[in-house]
Amino acid sequence: MALNIMHVDMDAFYAAVEQMDKPELKGKPVIVGGVSLSNRGVVSTASYEARKYGVHSAMPIVEAKRLCPDAVFLPGRHERYSEVSRQIFEIFYQYTPLVEQISIDEAFLDLTGCSRLFGDSIQIGRRIKEDIYNKFGLTASIGLARNKFLAKLASDMEKPDGFFVIEDKDIDRILEPLDVNKIWGVGKKTAEILRSRGIDTIGRLKTLPLEELENLLGKNGIRLYYLSRGIDNRKVEVDNPVKSISHEETFAENISDKNAILSSLLRMSSKVSRRLRKAGLIGNTIDVKIRYGDFTTYTRSISIAVGTNNTDVIYQKAIYLLEKNKLLNQPVRLLGVGVSNLSPEGPEQLSLFENNQKTDDLTKTIDFIRDKFGETSLIRARNLDDFK
Ligand SMILES: [Mg+2]
Repeated sequence: MALNIMHVDMDAFYAAVEQMDKPELKGKPVIVGGVSLSNRGVVSTASYEARKYGVHSAMPIVEAKRLCPDAVFLPGRHERYSEVSRQIFEIFYQYTPLVEQISIDEAFLDLTGCSRLFGDSIQIGRRIKEDIYNKFGLTASIGLARNKFLAKLASDMEKPDGFFVIEDKDIDRILEPLDVNKIWGVGKKTAEILRSRGIDTIGRLKTLPLEELENLLGKNGIRLYYLSRGIDNRKVEVDNPVKSISHEETFAENISDKNAILSSLLRMSSKVSRRLRKAGLIGNTIDVKIRYGDFTTYTRSISIAVGTNNTDVIYQKAIYLLEKNKLLNQPVRLLGVGVSNLSPEGPEQLSLFENNQKTDDLTKTIDFIRDKFGETSLIRARNLDDFK
């Protein structure tokens, strides 16, 4: 049971991605700011070279410029960071499906049950760190412990490029000297209340009985009582941050022509399907939304047994929903299609119940051509009218 929870936190992620893409920036202070980089913006991420000058995230750009005038200031490129993030998460999924994404560059992994395949959790942690470094040249800080609270503390202990394990026997020794604000959920206010009672370290916090902490801080006090003893029962929640992927359009004029409606529906299904594939997701629920000229709006959904990200499956189910519910009998102002109930795309979805291999290959080819030559390089016959 011990040491099965891992926390991964990429080091100075945005700045590190910039240094990866522009090798001439390696070893230099790099500061990634808001999109505009205006003096009113704040620092998103500072490379460790810039942190030496006292620059940190959330600091006004003006101040960062004063502290480190020679730094390279760059606007954020969030698309790019998301892309790298997705590839890093793919590495996690090679080891376990139990991945909880905390942010673009941070995750908890539950390694229970992985050991037979990949070695013990320490070996897995080392391998993940190496995989990330070998693939991107980026460093991650990794913490391993028996629960989330301790794993997150551990990843912070030797940051950057850290690898730290909190074994059960060391929990008290490691926790007790730490500042109370190291406990997850202890903000400025709580820390102040505790400090006003002479409680500055986790060790001191442990001297307070449960009742006293509850009187002082309510429910949060109970939580702190347990966390200060290294007890945290929260599970790694495998919860994809994206709940659904959908696309909707309001038409310039209300549309009555059924062919025109279906043509739009196909185009939207294709967009949704492509976004799903890019995110490596499939979904088990297809939704449609339709709004008429008088603004009455209907949404309908259907669940399917085998998750999909296939344009034709999405499109056919969407048509089915519109026809079955007799929703195509009035001029349409807005139309939308979406896929929800999402899960990561896995090899098991290949042709379990139906032979979709051919369409999947075709879809991949279409994706490839569109990526290379642009969205309108390949158009389905039904969509030709849209481009006249
Ligand atoms: Mg980070």
